[in-house]
Amino acid sequence: MSKILLIAIYLLGAYSLADSVPQEWAKRTTPTADSLPQSIGTYTNGCISGAMSLPLSGKGYQVMRLSRHRFYGHATLIQFIQQLGQVAADQQLGTLLIGDLGQARGGPTPSGHRSHQTGLDVDIWFLLSKQLDNRLLSANERETWSAPSVVDANSDAVDYQQWTQAHEKVLEAAARHPEVDRIFVNPSIKQELCTHRTASSAAWLRKIRPWWKHDDHFHVRLKCPTGNPHCRGQPALPETNGCDDSLAWWFSKEAKTPSKPSKPTIRPPLPALCEQVLNQ
Ligand SMILES: [Zn+2]
Repeated sequence: MSKILLIAIYLLGAYSLADSVPQEWAKRTTPTADSLPQSIGTYTNGCISGAMSLPLSGKGYQVMRLSRHRFYGHATLIQFIQQLGQVAADQQLGTLLIGDLGQARGGPTPSGHRSHQTGLDVDIWFLLSKQLDNRLLSANERETWSAPSVVDANSDAVDYQQWTQAHEKVLEAAARHPEVDRIFVNPSIKQELCTHRTASSAAWLRKIRPWWKHDDHFHVRLKCPTGNPHCRGQPALPETNGCDDSLAWWFSKEAKTPSKPSKPTIRPPLPALCEQVLNQ
């Protein structure tokens, strides 16, 4: 092995040991006091000032894994979750169990995600607990329950023991929301939605995007809210409903072959404004 390579490995190792940045963000357990929320940077490299916390229980939803303290987000995200909970309650679809939003000031997290940094991402479990009615889960249940996979590991289909019409309705209601940019689900779930598509579903179906895993939860990503000039969105989605060859690829050998473990990547510096958000 060349000396240069050895030095490079040493430096990378030193970098990751020295990368205490996510811990610094995790230590901030209160949002900044700004009254107007501002998402800054990109979903995978940014932060948020003036975040709100999602009330831990509300109509049609309950927050899980309270010990993670990731129930903060942009006001638009908080309203979105509350509205989706209301839909679930009104249509008797079950109780939405809410996973991670973001940290109090957003930013990189020490575990779990690359995105969720600007207060515009939320994970919602595919466990629609109909039997809960209005019962509040205990703190212990919120830590220890987990959602089952809704995908049959042996076929490329959803598992009908777990998958219900209610799941489809929740995804449709979420995707129809004008503030929603895209929703990530397992390719088998997208496939299932595609088999039931109608002419009128194209507009919301295009927002539902296949991605690896996402078989026990779906990930909702909002657009950059208006009046947030430092927020950086993603390129627009294709205009199609996504029920085409691009979906077929996800069932190919190439898509299913785990790629080699990626080399440690050096996290890019956060936007300069995030420095102020961290240190306020
Ligand atoms: Zn997520």
